[in-house]
Amino acid sequence: MTYLDGVSGGAMVTSLGQGIDSIIDAAAAQSREVSFLYSQQFTSPQQEALAEKLTELAPPGFGRAHFVAGGAEANEAALRVARAYHVERGAPERWRMISPAQAYHGPTMSTLALTGRPSMQRPFEPYLESHPHIPPATWRFDPTGEQSLEALDHALAEVGPETVAAFVCEPVSAAALPGYSPPTLFWEGLDARRREHGFLVVLDEVVTGIGRTGAWFAALDLPLVPDVITVAKGLGAGYVPIGAMICSDAVYEAFAQGSRAFELGHTWGGAPVQCAVALAVLEELERRGLVEHVAERGPRLRDELAEALAGSAMVREVRGRGFLLGIDYVDPRDGESMLDPALGVARMIDDEALARGLIVYSTQPTADGFACDQTLIAPTFVSTEEDLAELVERMAATVRAVEARVAAANGATAPSAAGGAR
Ligand code: PLP
Repeated sequence: MTYLDGVSGGAMVTSLGQGIDSIIDAAAAQSREVSFLYSQQFTSPQQEALAEKLTELAPPGFGRAHFVAGGAEANEAALRVARAYHVERGAPERWRMISPAQAYHGPTMSTLALTGRPSMQRPFEPYLESHPHIPPATWRFDPTGEQSLEALDHALAEVGPETVAAFVCEPVSAAALPGYSPPTLFWEGLDARRREHGFLVVLDEVVTGIGRTGAWFAALDLPLVPDVITVAKGLGAGYVPIGAMICSDAVYEAFAQGSRAFELGHTWGGAPVQCAVALAVLEELERRGLVEHVAERGPRLRDELAEALAGSAMVREVRGRGFLLGIDYVDPRDGESMLDPALGVARMIDDEALARGLIVYSTQPTADGFACDQTLIAPTFVSTEEDLAELVERMAATVRAVEARVAAANGATAPSAAGGAR
């Protein structure tokens, strides 16, 4: 069987698809010349060019980039820079990070501490800082964002705002809450509190960066300018492991006028072969107008998916931006409650989709009740019209099959249109 890749290599990485000659050629040419140099000691034309290109595409005022080998490393670099920024400015008491409870920032100890998901954290609790978390502003709990802001105020008051180094979040969530983005009110409130209390805003754009949401950076579409941005997956597009931490000139100035040092010497950060490949990725995206394509095609894809799933009482919400979409499932009997986790709906969806030749990524409900069964859909930017139509059709057939299994398990027939996709 051939499979339709609905999640860009399974992890929202291969945004350009497989086997792109210009990228393969760039890797080969650079490997023949100089594949590796330790960037703590040497820079390279490829690293310089990539830093220049990336900061040109980033929001205005983001003039510095530090390269690493992946998403968690990029977030580690962001945490370091956020903490060191305050130390440089004579505020060593600022170290805490506040983040939404439903998030994923990587599997390393300090990035794992930024999620509030106990099932992921439990075995490693002794190693994890207990940073405060706030609830997400989802349709279920807080559609306006007011309660999240109240929770932020509460967290700031509890730990003391003078101890907070940064607020860290994804602009549009990936695996933890597929396609979710806080409402405008939340972003505006976050901005006001950042100004009042002096903490930084770090945006994890490991998934959203480099076109996934229909902009080079999702930050460009937010009503707030962050201080630090991280990117990774789409930058190497599956051809090399690479990530970057990009910071605003104001953040950089704290170092330039302070110790002039920022230590984070991962061996593979900024190696010439990775940078040459990332440059080829950006060139390919630009040459083919693929970011603009995602911006134009994404909303229609979301609408097509919502329409195809509209008859399902198990689908509560189809959301997302660009080619980063999510589906929320609820109990079809009331269109509201979470499905019983014992049913294993997320696993059923992935299995039924695979049986129809479609790869998607679904997640189980979380014990804190912030996330229900959900599916993430993030196709490659080069998906053809036929691919996208197939994706929608196979996903609708998948949901129908799972809904029938859920109805059988519930011992009842699922109601048809009532409480469908919203
Ligand atoms: N941040 C987000 C939003 C992610 O989705 C991921 C991985 O899925 C990471 C960070 C970690 O990236 P990596 O697996 O490259 O370390």
